Amino acid sequence: MTGQIMKRNKEDNMALYSEKVMDHFRNPRNVGVIEDANGIGEVGNAKCGDIMKMYLKIEDDVIKDVKFETFGCGSAIASSSMATELIKGKPVSDAMQLTNKAVAEALDGLPDYKMHCSVLAEEAIRSAIEDYKKSAEKTAQQ
Ligand SMILES: [Zn+2]
Repeated sequence: MTGQIMKRNKEDNMALYSEKVMDHFRNPRNVGVIEDANGIGEVGNAKCGDIMKMYLKIEDDVIKDVKFETFGCGSAIASSSMATELIKGKPVSDAMQLTNKAVAEALDGLPDYKMHCSVLAEEAIRSAIEDYKKSAEKTAQQ
């Protein structure tokens, strides 16, 4: 792919999205379900009706694997794809620090009115980590 110039019909609205957004939208990374996930988070936003579900497989406080399912707009799909790439292999504490701004920056920017879609990625990860922490506490109490 490197250095290859893709030729396609130029549409004006394409210019709103960076090449990275288009790439992650067309070829989202880490899509799917982790059957034995130990942290699952599901969030949604009313604005574009995006729903995002994040699955984490955490071992020794490190995110060994991450997968997501997103029913939503292109920006939500690109944001969740990029977010999973950013936290994979990272300590849980690092993943907790991930902001929607960092996701948007990694995508070379999102249009202002689509920033809320990257917020969803941040929230989905936080919610999955909280789910993990809750079940870890339960296991410890038993
Ligand atoms: Zn959206």
